[in-house]
Amino acid sequence: MEIIIGKNAGFCFGVERAVNGAKEQVKKEKKIYCLGELVHNSQVIEALEKDGMVTIENLEEIQDESAKVMFRSHGVAKEIYEQAEKRKIFYEDLTCPKVLYLHKLAEKYTKDGFFVLLAGSKTHAENIGTISFCKKENCYQFEGIEELEDAMSAYAKSGLSKLVLLSQTTYSLAKFESLVEELKKRCPEIVVENTICASTRIRQEETKELARKVDKMIIIGGKNSSNTKKLYEVAKKECEKTYLVETEKELNREAFVNEDKVGIMAGASTPKESIQNIKKFLEKEGENS
Ligand code: SF4
Repeated sequence: MEIIIGKNAGFCFGVERAVNGAKEQVKKEKKIYCLGELVHNSQVIEALEKDGMVTIENLEEIQDESAKVMFRSHGVAKEIYEQAEKRKIFYEDLTCPKVLYLHKLAEKYTKDGFFVLLAGSKTHAENIGTISFCKKENCYQFEGIEELEDAMSAYAKSGLSKLVLLSQTTYSLAKFESLVEELKKRCPEIVVENTICASTRIRQEETKELARKVDKMIIIGGKNSSNTKKLYEVAKKECEKTYLVETEKELNREAFVNEDKVGIMAGASTPKESIQNIKKFLEKEGENS
């Protein structure tokens, strides 16, 4: 069996930074909280929780004012910073710098009188954070081209005359490009900020190329990881036999034979060990078949 692991599989710069930062804090602090999932990978979170990190859903859960809280890699809403400062809760901001940059853009364009369109999943933590830096009545969040007319009518209702498009850092590049094309037809003067992070773009491109070359493709990553789901969609278009798993336990042993060429790609929150475990699993199965 030939196994090809994508060069860009696994932790991106932002996740690596957050995980290393959290490990350091866990060692240093007696009690340390994390607001929301530090990164979208349950194996990584479980390991940190074993060492003492406590994941919470909101700041109200912190009763001990001397405790410290970490902010997840995908960022938190503006109100969270305000609440923490008001209650004088110490925080370590592990938000990826690329997400912080997106927050700044949202704030800046709002101040400059723009109506902000944000493309991305409405329920994703990153977008909830980004949209909080806009004025409620002067922004619209949408998931794709099917909501374009609603987005344009929200802009028309606002009475503003400047429009900007931002996107979730892990948004699909292909979807973003078709959105831009359609929006330019309706509003030629729209300002477009491609805020899809380079690491996401490169990973999606590599996944597409790899999936074209192999018989089977395995995408490894958390079930709630948006960038992993996108990788699955990209791969599935090119390679019918694409599997999305968190660990090797979810793979069917009989689905792989010696003659297979198998591609492996992993989401931005997937640790190296998970990739190696899948590789070992396949090598073992290859010998047996
Ligand atoms: S995918 Fe990009 S934006 Fe998201 S955490 Fe990684 S480096 Fe940051």
